[in-house]
Amino acid sequence: MIIDGKALAKQKRAEMAQIVQELKAMGVTPGLAVVLVGEDPASEIYVRNKHKACEEVGIYSRVIKLPEDTKEEDLLKLIDELNQDSALDGILVQLPLPKQIDSDKVIERILPSKDVDGFHPVNAGKLLTGQTGFVSCTPLGILELIKSTGIDISGKEAVVIGRSNIVGKPVAHLLLQENATVTICHSKTKNLKEVCQRADILVAAIGKPQLITADYVKGGAVVIDVGINRLPDGKLVGDVAFETVKEKASYITPVPGGVGPMTITMLLANTLLSAKNRV
Ligand code: NAD
Repeated sequence: MIIDGKALAKQKRAEMAQIVQELKAMGVTPGLAVVLVGEDPASEIYVRNKHKACEEVGIYSRVIKLPEDTKEEDLLKLIDELNQDSALDGILVQLPLPKQIDSDKVIERILPSKDVDGFHPVNAGKLLTGQTGFVSCTPLGILELIKSTGIDISGKEAVVIGRSNIVGKPVAHLLLQENATVTICHSKTKNLKEVCQRADILVAAIGKPQLITADYVKGGAVVIDVGINRLPDGKLVGDVAFETVKEKASYITPVPGGVGPMTITMLLANTLLSAKNRV
């Protein structure tokens, strides 16, 4: 079965539009600020899509564009202002930032209670210790996609390939919270294929086109493909060889149309959660 991320995202957004109406009736309009520094074309598209998604569900969205040569201290000053702005429940700074700006410093300046991207060390620490905080959007979306299959995650062997702070590590912790037995693989893992073959749930967040072929996959596994890779011919593919792996997996996400649509949806969900906390 193919897990349709687009359809799930649509359903979740319709539910959220309803919640926004309820919040508005109570006098609260959820608000999100997205800060873009520079003119990176991919970042421009991401920011535009986030703005559009907010408008769709009725969230107030403020996009702030700053020039490429913005000084770190000026960006930090802006974050301080946004932290104090009561119309905003969430603040997101689009990454990557130009090289004169230390992204860690910027992320740490955002109030953890407005860090809807879940990148602040306080929120990362809350995930690690099982406390309630903001979890980053792609991992949250991945968990929703797995849950949408109806499988019981508890006790399953889960293998996550990739250990980045924004995908691999948080996904592994979310699966651990759901009582899966979790293994994290990375570029130095020696027997990747053998480890993957154990997985009832396999999450590939590598960034290597179609690295995971059918011989890595246990029959009946749930396969979540996070990778977004552009081939020389312009085609977009994931980290999983979809056509052959789909014959072996019980459930699989396509690229595009799997994890991608859920990422922005979870950003909206986090913004709503923050607005509810305000109420
Ligand atoms: P990253 O480069 O920070 O991390 C990649 C990870 O893969 C690293 O931990 C590395 O150790 C591991 N790795 C690299 N080569 C490997 C190999 N041969 N064998 C095993 N492990 C290997 O990337 P990231 O930010 O975690 O993103 C991963 C992929 O997911 C990228 O393609 C990215 O574009 C995509 N992504 C998609 C979304 C989405 O919304 N769909 C969001 C974030 C990232």
